[in-house]
Amino acid sequence: MKYVSTRGQAPALGLSAAIATGLAPDGGLYTPQSLPRFMPEDFAGRESIADIAAHLLKPFFTGDALAAELPAICAEAFTFPAPLHALSTPDDQVLELFHGPTAAFKDFGARFLAACMRRLRHDEAKPLTIIVATSGDTGAAVGAAFAGMPGFRVAILYPDGRVSPRQAHQLGCFGGNVRALRVAGSFDDCQRLVKQALADEALRAQAPLGSANSISLGRLLPQMAYYAQAALAHWRAHEAKLHFVVPTGNLGNAVACVLARACGLPIGAIALATNANRVIPDFFAGADYAPQPSRATLANAMDVGAPSNFERLVWLYPDAAQLRREFVAQTVDDEAIRTTISTRYAQYGEVFCPHTATAVHVLERLRSDGAQGNWAVVSTAHPAKFEGIVEPLIGTSVAVPTSLAELLDRPAHAEALANDYAALRNMLRS
Ligand SMILES: *Cc1c(COP(=O)(O)O)cnc(C)c1O
Repeated sequence: MKYVSTRGQAPALGLSAAIATGLAPDGGLYTPQSLPRFMPEDFAGRESIADIAAHLLKPFFTGDALAAELPAICAEAFTFPAPLHALSTPDDQVLELFHGPTAAFKDFGARFLAACMRRLRHDEAKPLTIIVATSGDTGAAVGAAFAGMPGFRVAILYPDGRVSPRQAHQLGCFGGNVRALRVAGSFDDCQRLVKQALADEALRAQAPLGSANSISLGRLLPQMAYYAQAALAHWRAHEAKLHFVVPTGNLGNAVACVLARACGLPIGAIALATNANRVIPDFFAGADYAPQPSRATLANAMDVGAPSNFERLVWLYPDAAQLRREFVAQTVDDEAIRTTISTRYAQYGEVFCPHTATAVHVLERLRSDGAQGNWAVVSTAHPAKFEGIVEPLIGTSVAVPTSLAELLDRPAHAEALANDYAALRNMLRS
């Protein structure tokens, strides 16, 4: 399988090279040149995510140096479940993606990427520093995935004071080869600093850098696996397609769902739920695509004004009118996030994180507009990660899952970093 740039002006690459390159030289995103086509029966006898992933991703690895390693990579990455549970409202389910080490769905992609990159390093003299900007969850997942891995370092940049206290603790708790840098600035500032470092050839010659942002194929492709597992389980039980509502920021999670459907998995409708950052819903309502500065909301991991994976959607559906017919997209403001969290708890005892609540709210709207069939809300983080928002709304405490509790029990340390590229450059050279 070759990977081509969404902008069509860069040479096609194999998978390993595309993962190592990150952003294509023409500024585009790497996308599979063609998509395999599966039938549900092709997965007969495969139940675990690791088994399903090894089969689903095989064509994506064909001809690559990592092809023979794929089953081992899947076994190493997919070590925790993605259960599908019934909700209290009829025919509604929730796909829980927060059972990994850092209690958010980004553990799936980060662990798979780390398992790939580990195999692509061949005792080079200098360690590779994975540099990542985070609004909270990505940094923790990447830190956890690479912590203690020989040959790698991680530098996490996050906006000081703008992540939840538990997110901040997680980012600083790894130590060893993982450095947490709290930047006196916004998430956009962090992202700008990371881009500057990745574009600094002189720096990279001294201190090799790698990226792990949401455009990485090493994160995108494995995310198809949990959609495949959930849709196949539903298909086997009901002979019906499962519809999904996906909480959306950079569209990485949603594009994985789109790719899984395009590969023939029994997925029906896909609805995108955003917070008040409404570039995507506005586009689907007929406006031109118009990136905006991001706005701070209760669902902070989705505070994205210029969703980076939008280019992949357009590449898959070049005709805007057709693209608009393929998906539903709706915006949910903070007020509705709050109401959803408090009402679902009061009525049904269900507890959701603010990101998941956007999707729950969109499903409630779709149902009241007459949507039929079986729907699954995608739950992207455990509510205990956002206890400062959730607990006052439900009036009780949220139990902390064991893996998260382990991280929170460790001491944490973050280094202060000025919002200044020279400061970052010095730090990376040291
Ligand atoms: C990253 C994140 C999202 C958004 O996912 P994208 O792939 O950027 O669309 C949603 N919810 C949580 C909890 C996240 O960490």
